[in-house]
Amino acid sequence: MNPTVSIVGRPNVGKSTLFNRLIGRRKAIVHDEYGVTRDRHYGESFWNGRNFTVVDTGGYLPNEEDVITAGIREQVHLAMDESDVILFVVDTESGISSLDQSVANMLRKQEKPVFLVVNKADNEQKTMEAVEFYSLGFDEIYPVSAISGTGTGDLLDKVVEKL
Ligand code: GDP
Ligand code: MG
Repeated sequence: MNPTVSIVGRPNVGKSTLFNRLIGRRKAIVHDEYGVTRDRHYGESFWNGRNFTVVDTGGYLPNEEDVITAGIREQVHLAMDESDVILFVVDTESGISSLDQSVANMLRKQEKPVFLVVNKADNEQKTMEAVEFYSLGFDEIYPVSAISGTGTGDLLDKVVEKL
């Protein structure tokens, strides 16, 4: 079985955009789930000679704050169980939210490698602003623009080293 990289984070930070960029033209497989989690998408990716599976998480119904919080907690637990590497995505346009804080707290308490991906760093200004996310307590941040692809190569270079 291929190693697994899961993408977690609150809604609208760009998880699915990053997922689509990582799997390229390959097709995602959708797994329906029980519980608060609506579905998870699995896709295959390849970088620097390594094959790996990418998991996109999200899709919470109904769209209420406590349901979203419970859904994210469930997704983070699943990711911690089934992944070799976790990509924790945040958004430099909207800055740090309390949901980001609670995901960070969950992820810092476990052993799996976590990459803090600061998405929507579309230009130099936004990339500089991304440094505020160091306050979430991870050693490194990885500013990317999932839309344009900027930064995703540098991120993947480091990710595949951990697979
Ligand atoms: P998810 O809910 O975390 O899966 O987020 P989505 O991938 O659905 O993206 C949420 C919104 O953010 C969409 O409108 C995307 O087009 C936008 N978005 C995603 N990545 C980027 C990015 O790199 N830059 C900008 N400016 N917007 C982005
Ligand atoms: Mg999504």
